[in-house]
Amino acid sequence: MNSIVLETRGLVKRFGAFAATDDVSLKVERGARQALIGPNGAGKTTLINLLTGVLEPTAGQVLLDGEDITALPSHRRVGRGLVRTFQVSQLFDALTPLQTLALAVSQQLGAGRRLWQPLGRDARVAGRCDELLAQFHLADVADVPVAHLAYGQRRQLEIATALACEPRVLLLDEPAAGVPAGDRQQLFDIVARLPADVTVLLIEHDMDLVFNFARTVTVLVAGAVFAEGDVRTIASDPDVKAVYLGQAHG
Ligand code: ADP
Ligand code: MG
Repeated sequence: MNSIVLETRGLVKRFGAFAATDDVSLKVERGARQALIGPNGAGKTTLINLLTGVLEPTAGQVLLDGEDITALPSHRRVGRGLVRTFQVSQLFDALTPLQTLALAVSQQLGAGRRLWQPLGRDARVAGRCDELLAQFHLADVADVPVAHLAYGQRRQLEIATALACEPRVLLLDEPAAGVPAGDRQQLFDIVARLPADVTVLLIEHDMDLVFNFARTVTVLVAGAVFAEGDVRTIASDPDVKAVYLGQAHG
């Protein structure tokens, strides 16, 4: 099997005359722990939006497992295992973590069509929800409406929900954004323990977290790939340091 699970070829996204994504050719290996970094406005979120089908590219292709998915709508990409979380929290405040996960799990297990059956009655759904709640340290707040959760717990629930979709590739857009510094390590411990066969592409600004988590780093500047390599090479690259010096990250 091809070792490249996700690839872009000459990907371009223009907003008017401005290229937010400028000829990006990226290869992500199966099982990768890859970080996408770059100054605010570098085009990181735009790239994730192109990968997931939220945005349509001006030019270029997106390939999943060697297959061109450029024209595939978002939900079909999720069905093929390309799943993301958002930079800004996207949960329903009135639902509890258990309800949130039960919806995603039952959809995934095909139980969603048996709508006459209460979600909690399906043993497979309940079992998978319990696993996810434990893995993401949410068992104690399983029945607490999302509105009352700490922000770090909300972000953990978002990743749990993404994982409930049984992704092959998980795209995490700043999962620690807005999370108090003291709660970030727990979040990243969870991310670090994601199943090894799930490929993870992560956008993150906290360089300590990036360098602890990632094996490969891609640096995006002004929409284009500026540098790419293993963590050590990128961390000691003077050009990469120069790009970051004095930059406000956001
Ligand atoms: P990052 O996530 O790296 O901070 P973004 O991908 O959000 O950067 O944005 C990259 C650039 O594209 C920014 O200059 C932003 O203003 C611009 N941009 C993003 N989305 C749009 C849009 N829908 N319309 C116009 N410009 C956009
Ligand atoms: Mg962004």
